[in-house]
Amino acid sequence: ADYSAGHGWHDFRIQPYQPLVLDPSAIVLHYGQTVFEGLKAYKSSTGKIRLFRPRLNFERMNESCARMSMPAVDPDAMLDALMELLQLEKEWIPTAPGTSLYIRPFMIATEAYLGVAPSQKYQFMIILSPVGSYYKEGIAPVKILVENQYVRAVAGGTGTAKTAGNYAASLKAQETAAAEGYAQVMWLDGVERKYIEEVGSMNVFFKIDGKVYTPALNGSILDGITRRSIIDILRYWEVPVIEKRISMEEVRDAHRTGKLEEAWGTGTAAVISPIGEFRWQNELFYVNNGQTGEVSARLYDTLTGIQTGEQPDPFGWTIEF
Ligand code: PMP
Repeated sequence: ADYSAGHGWHDFRIQPYQPLVLDPSAIVLHYGQTVFEGLKAYKSSTGKIRLFRPRLNFERMNESCARMSMPAVDPDAMLDALMELLQLEKEWIPTAPGTSLYIRPFMIATEAYLGVAPSQKYQFMIILSPVGSYYKEGIAPVKILVENQYVRAVAGGTGTAKTAGNYAASLKAQETAAAEGYAQVMWLDGVERKYIEEVGSMNVFFKIDGKVYTPALNGSILDGITRRSIIDILRYWEVPVIEKRISMEEVRDAHRTGKLEEAWGTGTAAVISPIGEFRWQNELFYVNNGQTGEVSARLYDTLTGIQTGEQPDPFGWTIEF
């Protein structure tokens, strides 16, 4: 769909995947005025298309748009458009375990203008791509490098917005971590490099002495839909979950006293990714002897079960059509 100031959203259409035509002066190319979302479609055993809490993605997109001076979309109209597209492309939804059809809604500023000002024109698109498991290790634990120099996003900057700049800021550290054999970096806060933010493109959880902790949302941590869902599942199981500011020292000390039982990341791409090892400056420590923990495994099975329809959905999170 296209947007222009004065006309609003218009020209909703489905067209074959093809290169975009953009003016070289398009605002998105110079100032990064763009937002995106990510979600997945699954096919049920009866051949129906399944989506997991898709309205939340369009609502979160509108939050990102507000921060980026971009126009909102109507979440219901976008969900209808997505469902129509998925019906047409149903054959692309893979069914092997761990696979799905990744959905990328995004909006770009298309006005040709070299001054620094919000665009008067936008394009909103949804593209699809079949995906397998996020990590080559599958659900096996990953090694994480704690990043002490660079930060991903800061409150007051583009913070929690799902916008290109926050991901551009993350590339250098990710590259260094990958070269050293780490799957992801763990981000610390932008002021003191002391408090834990998130892991790569996942929110992070720690099981310490029988309780689960996750960093409280603080204006820079992404409000993950998987994060919210995991908190709800744990509470449904009556496992205590505490959202609070967590320092890297606290996690290291929990490890030293033998109380760090599990750690895992949560996100649409990986669903649950157990963490087997942390490197933080000169310290290296293993979590659960580098093995997948019991709670991580149970959460993975439960959430993927709900998403694929292999398990009941007591929360009413999924839609099937
Ligand atoms: N943090 C960041 C930085 C991300 O990009 C993502 C992926 N959207 C997440 C966390 C996890 O969010 P969600 O559970 O909504 O996929």
